[in-house]
Amino acid sequence: MSELAELCAEINECQKCGLGRLRLKAVPGDGPENASIMFIGEAPGWHENQQGKPFVGPAGQLLDELLASIGLKRADVYIANVIKCRPPDNRDPLPEEIAACADYLSRQIATLKPTVIVTLGRYSMAKFFGGESISRIHGQPRKFEDVIVFPMYHPAAALHQPRLHQDLINDMKKLPAILAEAGDIQEGQEPEEQAQQLSLF
Ligand code: URA
Repeated sequence: MSELAELCAEINECQKCGLGRLRLKAVPGDGPENASIMFIGEAPGWHENQQGKPFVGPAGQLLDELLASIGLKRADVYIANVIKCRPPDNRDPLPEEIAACADYLSRQIATLKPTVIVTLGRYSMAKFFGGESISRIHGQPRKFEDVIVFPMYHPAAALHQPRLHQDLINDMKKLPAILAEAGDIQEGQEPEEQAQQLSLF
């Protein structure tokens, strides 16, 4: 079994927080182990809890459309979430649930070594840029340790807010260039400077 498969098996057995008792299926993550792009969402919803796979409900359909808009398929990317089990009634994840799952996500990133991480929504953004506002930094790639992190809005939010939907479409269009130029971004620069370096603005 690969390191990533072993990690997913460990997540499937996890009882580190109260959500472990409530889930039907844990949702460790899905995608090829050599993916250059890793998407990180927030938490499984109803559909994901049934199937054990990330983004298989309405937000996942929108994610598929956004991927198709830049010529990608789900099979080209790895998708995971900040927390691996569904919170009851789709409530926001609690700090202790995020803390219990944090090491799983860090190990997934360390094992996959993606070139670009796309964070979907504010909980995912906060793993890298705590204290930032997603409305300020979405669509601006930034280096975090060895990886480029590209914050985007969450597709579920865009299902209800047309302005965010358009922002998501526009941000997704930048992803191919970010991937192509990933080596040129410097850690520590202001996000606007980093984005300028990518000729995106
Ligand atoms: N929303 C998420 O953040 N993750 C999923 O897997 C599905 C919906």
